[in-house]
Formats: sequence, C-alpha cells, structure tokens
Amino acid sequence: MPDRIEIANTGRARCRACRRAIGKGEERFAEAAPNPVAEGETQHYYHLPCAAERRPKAFAQLLATLQPRPELAPLREAAALALEHHRLERLGVIERAKSARANCRFCRELIEKDAWRVAIQPIEDGRLGAWGFVHLSCAGSYAGVKPSAERLLRYSELPAEARQEIDSLLAALPTPAPRPPADEEREAAPGIESTESTETAQSASE
Ligand SMILES: [Zn+2]
Ligand SMILES: [Zn+2]
Repeated sequence: MPDRIEIANTGRARCRACRRAIGKGEERFAEAAPNPVAEGETQHYYHLPCAAERRPKAFAQLLATLQPRPELAPLREAAALALEHHRLERLGVIERAKSARANCRFCRELIEKDAWRVAIQPIEDGRLGAWGFVHLSCAGSYAGVKPSAERLLRYSELPAEARQEIDSLLAALPTPAPRPPADEEREAAPGIESTESTETAQSASE
C-alpha cells in the first residue's frame, strides 16, 4: 500500500518519532516499509506534525499528491524547512546530560553533566537512531537553521519551567550560518559517544 494519511481506527499504534500513542480517530501518516518478519510490506505510523518534521521527504511527496487543505499548510512548510536543512529532521529528544561522557557532534567539546543537549536521532528503518548529542546551543549550527521551541520540545516530556528555560535559551541564540553542502558526506556513522543515547531515546518515551 502506498504512503497515506488515514484515520487511526484504534489508539494502539505509537508514533515512530515521538513514541507517544496516536489517538483513535486522529489522522496519522502511514508510511509503507518492508516487513522485517514476513514477505510484503508493513506500515510505520506517525502523528502528522511528527511526520512533517522527522520524515519530511516521504511526507512532502505524499502531500504533493493530495488535495490542499488549510490545516495541512503548516505541515507542508515544516517539511519544506526540514528538506532545505536536511539535518533538522535528526534533532530528537532534548534533555539535561546525565553525565559528562559525550562530546558534542558539532563543536566536539565535552557536554557537561546537566547541560541541555539534543539527541541526534535520525529515523532509520522506522527506529530512532542513536548518533550522539549536540549542545542545545549548537543545535542550530548543526542543523543549519535554528529550530523553533515547538519543534525542539515536541519529542521530550519536560516540565513547564524547563520548557520556558529552553524557550528563552533558544531565543537568545544567534541565527546560524547556513551549512556548507560540502561537509555532509563526512558525517555518516555514529561516533563512539553514542552508547548513552539508546538509553536516552527509551527513557524519553516511557
Ligand atoms: Zn509523534
Ligand atoms: Zn557543541
């Protein structure tokens, strides 16, 4: 079955990006994927905003085939932004560093314990990758565009005062310079600092 937007007929499916349940009766993005245990295909499900931000290519391709609806316009824009700055879709959970073990994938400096960090979690075969972390202050430079607070906070469960703190930290950050296209190929495999992030991705979802 091709990729599609459909109404969730149960509330059991979890979004592959934010790991939260998709409510019954809610619209969801169903992305076709090879079935790992049998022949044929399966579907990966996403909330629509999560799909626009974390699966922008497949989502934008689908939107281009659909009748425009006003409520889809901001999602189309989110997907276009992520396609223009292709590292943006990798930004996942934001949290305080549990220990000072990981180096930032942008500036290469150690991320101090309790500093805000953003996990680099591209969705690979429907699973959150664990590519390590960047400082919150480096997230915009890493992606080539400053993420909105809404974008950054969507994948984390944080109390209101932490959200406010991140909101003002983000607002104070300068607009990053665009990424030179040339250095994309050098970054592929996760670095050695990624061991901690598996645990991160799970703790954020449960
Ligand atoms: Zn979601
Ligand atoms: Zn950094």
